[in-house]
Amino acid sequence: MQTKTKTMNAVIKAAEGYDQMEFSEIAVPKVTEDKVLIKVAYTGICGSDIHTFKGEYKNPTTPVVLGHEFSGEVVEIGEAVTTVKVGDRVTSETTFSVCGKCEYCQKKEYNLCPYRKGLGTQQNGSMTDYVLAREESIHILPDNLSYEGAALSEPLACCVHAMYQKSTLELQDKIIIIGPGPIGLLLLQIAKEIGAYVVMTGITKDKHRLELAKKMGADKIIDTQKDDLATVINEVTDQYGVDKIYDASGSIYAVNQSLPLLRKGGTFVQVGLFKEKMNELDIESTIQREIRYVGSRSQNPFDWPIAIHLLAKGAIDIQGMITKIYPLQEWRTAFEKVMEGNEIKVLIESNVKE
Ligand SMILES: [Zn+2]
Ligand SMILES: [Zn+2]
Repeated sequence: MQTKTKTMNAVIKAAEGYDQMEFSEIAVPKVTEDKVLIKVAYTGICGSDIHTFKGEYKNPTTPVVLGHEFSGEVVEIGEAVTTVKVGDRVTSETTFSVCGKCEYCQKKEYNLCPYRKGLGTQQNGSMTDYVLAREESIHILPDNLSYEGAALSEPLACCVHAMYQKSTLELQDKIIIIGPGPIGLLLLQIAKEIGAYVVMTGITKDKHRLELAKKMGADKIIDTQKDDLATVINEVTDQYGVDKIYDASGSIYAVNQSLPLLRKGGTFVQVGLFKEKMNELDIESTIQREIRYVGSRSQNPFDWPIAIHLLAKGAIDIQGMITKIYPLQEWRTAFEKVMEGNEIKVLIESNVKE
């Protein structure tokens, strides 16, 4: 096939440290065995990509092509591939390779395999024109799901992981979601689909994101710099506190502010990543209230069909989530837009003819 000798432009984290990004030509990957070559349509910029850009995230592997939230069309398959064919519209889990032997792999909890290689972190990702994925990670898209919408599958799967696997969100639950960024807004929409009562919190600079949260179904939006969160929660829950809290802010201040507002025996799910490795957590409240404090890391195969189902059935406001799309060559502007903090989800479009 002619793509073998072709090259393509790619957004590359070249070395550790602030920025250290390159936009340069690399070879289109070769397809072997159980691998599938995908012509990328769209890639979402993730908060973790911004951490990587800023050098706050030590990428185990550099140089590496970024991009792990994507959609596209299959253009070539390896000789061992049987379930995916050329022309399929797909998205892929971020797992590129795992040991296949550890206890986590046996249970398909690939997000926990110590030898896992993920797309866009240890293995070249999708901020380019063609990305290589493994057959087992591929999900074929329903006809009514657009490529733009499918680029939300990965962050949505992370949210499904937090709400269905790391906790069991129920219809009658009252919850707090901290942080109205892309992850917070996706958590909100899953919670509303289930039917839970949601208090979404943010700070003053989140004003328009909080308004969007309201439009997406939040029962209450709280600017914690202006309103007293405790008063609101005590009123809504008859002093008991909420059943569950989901942090999508990575702010220790916000986490500690909310812990005493969790019902005794309630579950706190940590989804947001912190800048610092060590933080001063309110352990006292955690003990006294018998709180289950649970980490939620990435996603695994069980989350994806649910995420894709939610997208296809219209439970997620795709248009409301995606606020800007830039062609691949304008990747830097796209990253800057995300860092300015006024957009929700920004996508990069691959294979755009100049
Ligand atoms: Zn992501
Ligand atoms: Zn393993």
